[in-house]
Amino acid sequence: MSAPGMVDIATTCQACGAGDLETFYEVESIPAQTCVLFDTAEEAAAYPTGRIVLGFCAICGFIQNLVFDPQDIDYSQPTEESQAFSPEFQRFATTLATDLVARHRLEGRRVLEVGCGKGDFLQLLAERGIAAGIGIDPGYLPNREVDGTTLEFIKDWYGPNHPELTGDLVLTRHLLEHIPNVSEFTGWLLASAQASPGAGLFTEVPDVRRVLAEGAFWDVYYEHCSYFTLGSLGRMLRGAGLRLDRLEMAFGDQYLLADGAPGEMREPHPAEEPLDDLAEEVAGFATEATQRVDGWRARIGAVVEPGDHVAVWGGGSKAVAFLAAVGVPAGAVTVVDINPHKKGKFLPGTAIEVEPPSVLVDRNPQLVIPMNPIYEGEIRTELAGMGLDPEVTPL
Ligand SMILES: [Zn+2]
Repeated sequence: MSAPGMVDIATTCQACGAGDLETFYEVESIPAQTCVLFDTAEEAAAYPTGRIVLGFCAICGFIQNLVFDPQDIDYSQPTEESQAFSPEFQRFATTLATDLVARHRLEGRRVLEVGCGKGDFLQLLAERGIAAGIGIDPGYLPNREVDGTTLEFIKDWYGPNHPELTGDLVLTRHLLEHIPNVSEFTGWLLASAQASPGAGLFTEVPDVRRVLAEGAFWDVYYEHCSYFTLGSLGRMLRGAGLRLDRLEMAFGDQYLLADGAPGEMREPHPAEEPLDDLAEEVAGFATEATQRVDGWRARIGAVVEPGDHVAVWGGGSKAVAFLAAVGVPAGAVTVVDINPHKKGKFLPGTAIEVEPPSVLVDRNPQLVIPMNPIYEGEIRTELAGMGLDPEVTPL
């Protein structure tokens, strides 16, 4: 990640440089980081908040938070990725690792991962035969066990300050959505790839198109300052100097995957959607999002009698954004998560404690809300195993 610079109210598109951005959605107050958990309820309640003003570029389709200030976010703090403990997400990551090793012929070669988190994905690549992996991330925790024989980790910001970093594949997963100056940053990634002749570049980001179409307000976070579709990602990568080999959706159409190599590509990739369609979805988002918030308030209000429980399954960013928008009847919501590192911690904003799913046996919730529909099957199985049969309605 880059050392963050100051961003006032942005007036130009950070992906293509065009002016005339169209403001279409605002959130007055949301915790500045939704994936940070706290040891005490007091700290969690006092956590700083940020403001979101989403702007749409009609020229390239890129969406950005026009008032994002990177200084509100401390990426050196340890955070727990919300999905690392899910079997579904693990299956996706291992399949992707196998695919990348084959696609980029990485056996016996080097990989650079920018924004490597705790190094889990590099470890998967190491298990599939890469010769060396370098990870760089300001939030890397060196105390986690990693195969130290082939993997090297740098706890720092990525950028032109590290011209020595390169690899036969340069990859980022779930990083660009946190970067305000996306086009400039992509240029740095390409420079890292160009330092190794024949190297490729891979990036994975969340897709915003379904967020727009579904009014999915729980997927708009403060720390996500940049939002992509297949079209806006493809246009930006091509504009930065990438020849795209692959541009597609994955993980239940929630993520965008792009592969390529430095080179020229003037024609759009066939997967890039028409800008007119996107503009229409952007226009409908604010109305849809408001209706969704009202709908959830009514639904929770309908099932919750005094002493009753609603369970939010997944103590991550979606839960923080969901609870911040919907509001919660005091004491009526239990937040559970299968990640043992989250147990006993408190969510920023609402200051609700994250508990293990086993607490639901006693609480006997009337309604369970999986924060990610892709885990609904897993969650139903766990609930059945506890002898519970609540209504399960994913976001
Ligand atoms: Zn643009």
